Amino acid sequence: MANPDTSSCKQPPGVVAPVVDSHKCEGKEDCVRVCPYDVFTVRKLSSDERGALPFFVRLKVAVHGGKQAFVTKPDQCHSCGLCVAACPESAIRLARI
Ligand code: SF4
Repeated sequence: MANPDTSSCKQPPGVVAPVVDSHKCEGKEDCVRVCPYDVFTVRKLSSDERGALPFFVRLKVAVHGGKQAFVTKPDQCHSCGLCVAACPESAIRLARI
């Protein structure tokens, strides 16, 4: 991203990172759209990843295309909180690294 809006950043990178609750995430990609630092990737789950989820969560994920969000660049998080606010499933929290 060329000129991310950094006005709401609360921390330098490397202090906190988002954690995605795999029991809640439905892969709707709001986090990908709002994050100024491309911290998230949404992709299809592997069969092993699907198999590690409880039965009803597997059904929910299947209904939503078999995708979930993953934190692929945790060291780039600046703690702005945009992803937490944007997630319609309240599936994201910030935690100290
Ligand atoms: S808080 Fe969320 S939106 Fe903000 S930089 Fe970190 S991962 Fe990206």
